[in-house]
Amino acid sequence: MQENDCSAALRQLYPYLDGELTEGIRHKILEHLDACPPCGKAYDFENELKKVVGNRCIETVPEGLKERIAASLDAARGASGQPQA
Ligand SMILES: [Zn+2]
Repeated sequence: MQENDCSAALRQLYPYLDGELTEGIRHKILEHLDACPPCGKAYDFENELKKVVGNRCIETVPEGLKERIAASLDAARGASGQPQA
């Protein structure tokens, strides 16, 4: 029983973190995580990992935006007349 609950909860880990589950399923998982520290830890861990990955994605800006940033940096340098280190 416990094992089935755990494997079911862990199978839903990624859909859960991605917000793809219905309220009912989310509620069942939250109940299980409350009652089952190992699964709670697994969800915490993946949640933190997802945040880190999410932050890294912000650095992957679209090419056009990079060019605009580079252009505005060039303009800023040109305006100050000082090359920046
Ligand atoms: Zn569990």
